[in-house]
Amino acid sequence: MKKHNFYAGPSILPEYTIEQTAAAIKNFANMDLSLMEISHRSKEFVTVMDEAQQLFKELLNIPEGYSVIFLGGGASTQFAMVPFNLFKKKAAYLNTGAWSKKAIKEAKLFGEVEVVASSEDKLFNYIPKNYTIPEDADYFHITTNNTIYGTEIKEDITSPIPLVADMSSDIFSRPVDVSKYAIIYGGAQKNLAPAGVTFVIVKNDILGKTGRDIPTMLNYQTHIDKESMFNTPPVVPVFAALQTLKWLKNNGGIGEMQKVNIKKADMLYDEIDRNPLFRTTVLDSNDRSLMNICFVMNEGYENLEKPFFDFASEKGMIGIKGHRSVGGFRASTYNALPVESVAALIDCMQEFEKKNK
Ligand SMILES: *Cc1c(COP(=O)(O)O)cnc(C)c1O
Repeated sequence: MKKHNFYAGPSILPEYTIEQTAAAIKNFANMDLSLMEISHRSKEFVTVMDEAQQLFKELLNIPEGYSVIFLGGGASTQFAMVPFNLFKKKAAYLNTGAWSKKAIKEAKLFGEVEVVASSEDKLFNYIPKNYTIPEDADYFHITTNNTIYGTEIKEDITSPIPLVADMSSDIFSRPVDVSKYAIIYGGAQKNLAPAGVTFVIVKNDILGKTGRDIPTMLNYQTHIDKESMFNTPPVVPVFAALQTLKWLKNNGGIGEMQKVNIKKADMLYDEIDRNPLFRTTVLDSNDRSLMNICFVMNEGYENLEKPFFDFASEKGMIGIKGHRSVGGFRASTYNALPVESVAALIDCMQEFEKKNK
């Protein structure tokens, strides 16, 4: 039976990425050696790293003056690395979910953190608006897509101070005006590669201003100077990321991805809004994520949660259970998820409605 993969992360990757990576694990670059057993300093792998950086810049239209680096440690290490490199006296954060809170916790180790607004009062089911970004803070940190709660900041905001964004789960899903950001980072395992590699886009002139001694591995400058080769990079995930970037380019680039992502999200939100058995948790359609679509059983149908989960699982829907802090369901519709998978989930919802209404 065909499986429809709605996992939130690690998550679906293009077939192209998996095929190319599987082939390279057997025989990389006609070396008759596995990608897993070659030196990261071999000219064959250095080429992969260079191409990945180049294509990353090309697809996101990254302006001059920015570096792209590939690191280990996940987005979670960036929660500390950002303040290590930028925090002087005070930082500002927008609290839109569990990942924002974790980032705030790390920043507080460095000094004063101003949480400019929070949606925690309503279990993070909206994006706060009309807040003021304090001009005396060193930087302003946002989480553009809240993977757990299904909310998303879909436009690039304007900040009077350096803007830092965790884009773990919506990078490459829409065009981004990188010039509005000082740092963009994310774990690659949501929309780009298998787990193990973290991407960071850094505006070069933002660095070196804290006066602090930074541990070598936590200093962005180390990795910029050595082009992500200061120590051994995660070779296999970087190779896989390059394959996804090639797939993106061959499929029309980010503009085309955005079109398909909007189509998939519209299809599913329309069904959730129409189907009397279900309701969305994010009421303002402007705040609804295009990547992680959360929904729960409607009032009066709460007892059908487990039956719907079992029904959908039998029909090949994988990974639709909501995060334990929200409950219900979450369908992640990353770039590699085909429209037909969304259509298959909608069929399930409609069949289940007929059986149970
Ligand atoms: C998954 C996720 C993280 C955590 O990423 P790790 O690579 O596991 O540390 C951080 N932020 C967001 C928005 C995420 O979706």
